Amino acid sequence: MGVNCLALLIYALGLVFVFPAGAATPPSSVLPPISAISPSNFPVLELDQDGPNRLEIGARMGVLVDSSRALNLEQARAQTAAWQTITRQSPNFGFTQDNYWFRFQLHNRSTRVLPRFIELPIPFLDDVRLYHFVGNTLTTQYSLGDEQPFAQRAVRHRNFIMPVQLAPGDNAFYLRLSSTGTIEAPLRIWDPVQFHVASNDENLAQGAVIGILLIMVVYNLFVWVSTRDINYLYYICFVASYLMFHMTLTGYTFAYLWPNAVRWNSFAISTFAASSAVFTCLFTDSFLRLRRFSRPAFYTVRVMAIFSLVLFASTFVLPYAWTIRMAAAITLPITMTALFLGYWRWWRGARFARFYCLAWTVILIGIAVLNASKFGWVPINVWTENASQIGIVMMVILLSLTLADRINNDRTLRLNAQAVALGHARQARASQAALIQAKEEANHALEQRVLSRTNDLNATMEQLRLVNERLQLLSTTDSLTQIGNRAFFDGAALTELRRAERQRTAISIILLDIDHFKRINDTFGHPAGDACLRALANMLRPRIDRAGDILARYGGEEFVIALTGVELHGSVAVAEELRIATDRLRVEFDGKPLRFTASFGVVSVVPQTTLNLEELVAAADRALYDAKRNGRNCVRHTAIT
Ligand code: GH3
Ligand code: MG
Ligand code: MG
Repeated sequence: MGVNCLALLIYALGLVFVFPAGAATPPSSVLPPISAISPSNFPVLELDQDGPNRLEIGARMGVLVDSSRALNLEQARAQTAAWQTITRQSPNFGFTQDNYWFRFQLHNRSTRVLPRFIELPIPFLDDVRLYHFVGNTLTTQYSLGDEQPFAQRAVRHRNFIMPVQLAPGDNAFYLRLSSTGTIEAPLRIWDPVQFHVASNDENLAQGAVIGILLIMVVYNLFVWVSTRDINYLYYICFVASYLMFHMTLTGYTFAYLWPNAVRWNSFAISTFAASSAVFTCLFTDSFLRLRRFSRPAFYTVRVMAIFSLVLFASTFVLPYAWTIRMAAAITLPITMTALFLGYWRWWRGARFARFYCLAWTVILIGIAVLNASKFGWVPINVWTENASQIGIVMMVILLSLTLADRINNDRTLRLNAQAVALGHARQARASQAALIQAKEEANHALEQRVLSRTNDLNATMEQLRLVNERLQLLSTTDSLTQIGNRAFFDGAALTELRRAERQRTAISIILLDIDHFKRINDTFGHPAGDACLRALANMLRPRIDRAGDILARYGGEEFVIALTGVELHGSVAVAEELRIATDRLRVEFDGKPLRFTASFGVVSVVPQTTLNLEELVAAADRALYDAKRNGRNCVRHTAIT
């Protein structure tokens, strides 16, 4: 890789505006002694068959600036007074519309004709003309330039290679350059064999750079396919654009990719410089996440991206001379902005910006080293000469690394967040489990309490039921005779009456009343009367024991009997039986046998319609009254009307 390629790189990165391209002072070892300078702006360089094999002409040429762009060879040669010595350190004249004429002499000290190559390693020059004079005779002339198809070249090489036969003695050369881009004329004189050797070396080195960039494109393309991270796409487009820019600038694309596309080749450098700028902006914006970080930074980069995009489109229509100037002008601000924003982002805590900053720093260091070497501040060697190439390769690799680093970073953050979330989930589950257990315990305790309360309640209910039963019994039992009382009779008899109504069966009521009971009380005392009542009840109880039959003390010395399913005839018979049994009853009291009789009233009915129990009893009472009136100790019956 020659010094010129590096100069082009600087030019590409717009740094031509900061560091005016310094003189590519060749190593002194290849400098021939200047034997004669006559006149001083027509330098003479000496050589013979022993060398030098490579001769850098550098700035040691006469120059004629043709602003009219009209001079022909003869006119240029004739303008002796207009020829000047090059005052700058390198034969680099920047952007200009002028035609530039150069002249120099090679003095062949040997006696033989020496074949030599003149190399002009600026592949993008539009029009290159070389004239070789021996004495006053024009022996060779070349008309080259990137406005002609690649096949027109004398030597198939990405740079302009012009073979010449150096006659013994003086050989004069005139070179005319015109271009819409920059004018540079870093000429080299080569021994053809040495040229091929050096060219092989350079192709290998350039191939390595191109290969590395290509690998990064392909590799990151695969990464993009699997991650779908837009940053990779921007990166790939940036590297691909830069790769194409580099290959076009160094003449490789014209030599190998589009040897016949002269028109396209004339502005492709601008196109690729602009697309590199577009993707630098997009990558910077996306990678540094500027929208969320800083609105002003985001809009600045957006504006730069839009401007670059417009420039990209305009390279196809506007003159190359304009677009290449604009491309060169925006490259530096974009590079500086990208670097500045990277450091700002890093300073504000974005660790993922580390490698990004390193990448941009490396390329700037590379360019700085290159320029330092040009100004002689650092020694010129293979490293310093190729510093910017090394810089760009390292930058591309570091940017790829930065993408991987950020993906890693994001994954770590995500894993951490997941771990935290997992911890929270675990905590939540634990507290939920604790809650459920507490709830279960509370439920269990509650169940126990409910159970014990229920048991208490059941016990209370049972007690209540027993008490109720007892109360019921007490309220329906006559305490003296231990048979049912009147309330008991009213309830039970009504039930039987309703049943008889439903079943159309007979129901009979027998009402009996002890005769002259008052006398027993009066004669033997109240306890004797009580004894009689108990004895009568005890006599009646076993006799009235059929299911459905009811026996009760109706009040005082009056008893009532209800017989179900028994008609009048049957019930009168029962009453008669009871009357006889009463008459025969002997009650032992104070050693004396007491006896009494009773009167019976009987009523019987098969209820046709709803019948009042009171009416039935009243009818029985009427029959009883009848029996009393008819002498007592007898049975009388009545019918329901
Ligand atoms: P009659 O033949 O007309 O029925 O005459 P009687 O004396 O039996 O009828 P009365 O209604 O005049 O008298 C009933 C008496 O029964 C009055 C009352 O002192 C007595 N007596 C009512 N209940 C009891 C009781 O529980 N024990 C005792 N010892 N006497 C009672
Ligand atoms: Mg009575
Ligand atoms: Mg009586």
